[in-house]
Amino acid sequence: MQTMQITIYNLSGAMEHGYVSVKPDICSVCGDILTPYPIAFSNSVEKIEPSFENVYHPYQCTGKCGLVNLAVYKLKPKSRIKMHYDLVDLFVAVPKEVPANEVSPEIQKLSPNFFSIYKQALATEALNLTQMTGLGLRKALEFLVKDYAISKYPNDEEIIKKKYLV
Ligand SMILES: [Zn+2]
Repeated sequence: MQTMQITIYNLSGAMEHGYVSVKPDICSVCGDILTPYPIAFSNSVEKIEPSFENVYHPYQCTGKCGLVNLAVYKLKPKSRIKMHYDLVDLFVAVPKEVPANEVSPEIQKLSPNFFSIYKQALATEALNLTQMTGLGLRKALEFLVKDYAISKYPNDEEIIKKKYLV
């Protein structure tokens, strides 16, 4: 099996070389090909003789989704000296918000809270956190309906804000 050398930096800026033999090759969102970034990072803080137990290595999706996949590696204890790492998991790093071009500028202006929550809900969908997506969309809808009602009946703002969506 072909081994890939990675350069790892930790939080103190200390650097080590590590070796990985199993690397993710397809994007976990769209299935397209991944390209590794030249550097990886570790959450350790030692400046001198750092031991990088966990290593996070970003991979760029070259396909249509274009998201960054984050491979999580753990140090193989038996070959500590050679800094060999085993792949343990693959996360997808998504932006905190997903662009929502389908929402018109009028709606964005009418209800900025709706627009913000809606984009965050879409981000949870990209992570397959569909229960969270449902909650987020419901909350976003509530802001939209209330902001619209308030724009129509500004004198009733306090009453509208206290109402629940049924
Ligand atoms: Zn992709």
